[in-house]
Amino acid sequence: MHEFSLCEGIIDTVTTQARQQGFSRVRRVWLEIGELANVELEALRFAFEIVRQDTTAADAELDIISLPGRAHCLDCAQPVAVQQHFDPCPLCGGYQWRLVSGTELRIKELEVE
Ligand SMILES: [Zn+2]
Repeated sequence: MHEFSLCEGIIDTVTTQARQQGFSRVRRVWLEIGELANVELEALRFAFEIVRQDTTAADAELDIISLPGRAHCLDCAQPVAVQQHFDPCPLCGGYQWRLVSGTELRIKELEVE
């Protein structure tokens, strides 16, 4: 389950940032995750609760902001919304689209004290 290593990276980043800015606790973490980022949200929440233990983020809340997948279709030359890799273009049914966004995984904001 790669969600554990993702969470280790996230917790490491947020606790380091909080410490560097002179804060002792992380209260809340907002994560932006693209719908095509290949992350299981349930698994991520589960991993977060385990990885945060014994850190300054031990009781931090996790807020997940889902970002839709956006692509540019080469067949019909339109911007389209996609939910999964290998889905056909919702407008023309073609598969020649290029993903523009939707694979993000980033920390948007922190609440610290
Ligand atoms: Zn198309």
